[in-house]
Amino acid sequence: METKTLPRPPRVGLVSLGCPKALVDSERIITKLRADGYQMSPDYAGADVVLVNTCGFLDSAKEESLEAIGEAIAENGRVVVTGCMGNEAEVIRQRFPDVLAVTGPQQYEEVVSAVHDAAPAATSPYLDLVPEAGLKLTPRHYSYLKISEGCNHRCSFCIIPSIRGDLVSRRPDAILREAEKLVEAGTRELLVISQDTSAYGVDIRHQPRMWKGEDVRAHMTDLSRELGKLGAWVRLHYVYPYPHVDHVIPLMAEGLVLPYLDIPFQHASPKVLRSMKRPANEAKVLERLKNWRSIVPDMAVRSSFVVGFPGEAEEDFQYLLNWLEEAQLDRVGAFKFEPVSGAAANALPDPVPEEVKQERYERVMELSARISAEKLAAKVGRTLDVLIDNVDAETGGATGRSKADAPEIDGEVHLRDAGHLAPGDIVSVRVEESDEHDLFGVPA
Ligand code: SF4
Repeated sequence: METKTLPRPPRVGLVSLGCPKALVDSERIITKLRADGYQMSPDYAGADVVLVNTCGFLDSAKEESLEAIGEAIAENGRVVVTGCMGNEAEVIRQRFPDVLAVTGPQQYEEVVSAVHDAAPAATSPYLDLVPEAGLKLTPRHYSYLKISEGCNHRCSFCIIPSIRGDLVSRRPDAILREAEKLVEAGTRELLVISQDTSAYGVDIRHQPRMWKGEDVRAHMTDLSRELGKLGAWVRLHYVYPYPHVDHVIPLMAEGLVLPYLDIPFQHASPKVLRSMKRPANEAKVLERLKNWRSIVPDMAVRSSFVVGFPGEAEEDFQYLLNWLEEAQLDRVGAFKFEPVSGAAANALPDPVPEEVKQERYERVMELSARISAEKLAAKVGRTLDVLIDNVDAETGGATGRSKADAPEIDGEVHLRDAGHLAPGDIVSVRVEESDEHDLFGVPA
């Protein structure tokens, strides 16, 4: 079988000049690039492209900006210019004909796409935390917030630790400052991502930092609580069911964090999980799910599973199906196992034939579609909060997402008589119908 080789993530250097508003732009651009799989480079030499966020308010600031562009060209050569001086693209191009792109202030999408052109993102379903569609344009009303890099686990099918290294957590105050700026700039939903969100802060011993006059530990619970106070929806992705995750559930009950958990279980059979070397692989997960739901009845759980892992026997697979039937997860994604170059799992015996993988994949998808349809049907007649993503003024239709739906990967809520709404609005919606993945309704 073909083995996949994974690409190295591109690195971006950033020189940010100017006022606090320009800083907000830089934060937002970095957030997006990080989420797209880019890494930041602390120096010119290690950067595949350098982004200069300029200030053009005063002549002296303009001169400083031009000098910064000149330095970046001399030191690195591959430079994208953005910010207020971007309004004077001609001046920049005349002096530095080699700049790759010039964009103006607050043109986040254009800057991000110029960086993508200059140093294409190494997309790979094995590495990406953001769904492929999310790489194109993330609307301003939701933002991915990356809280750490790397991972301390060594799952046998995964090579992220060998590419990205061990877990390196960002400081909680830096994450909160970035999140606050995003909310000020119009973000209504923060999507917290990392390779292992529940391990956040382990590497820095959960060291507290001062935020708004109080100590906040570098810990998932503290961070989630403070993020929740910013007023946007907070959605947690890539959480492993460690015991301390129990402490986040009350935050959901309080409305600080969305009643949603994305837990990449990958399998249920203890034998397969052991062979995958998965973290938090313990037998009591079903019991804990039940407990969580008794505290937050509306909690939506999404997960992904790998079928056809080497050594997965029919009885292991059947165990997974029975487990899924009992777990009643709201959203399930499944993947057929594929070896990735450098992964330990490639050396495991008993590969599963392709046709068996395909057949198991179809059985998982069929079961999860049925469970999803039943869960969605139970929402008909209820009134739910929906965050609007798109509005079609011509037809008066709109699409949005309830608290149970992450963008791109989960379902949607389709609305009628909603032409007056705008993306980013949060409205009450009466659910009228459902299908396997989506809900249909009308503003209440
Ligand atoms: S938890 Fe496992 S699958 Fe996830 S990044 Fe770490 S090693 Fe890879």
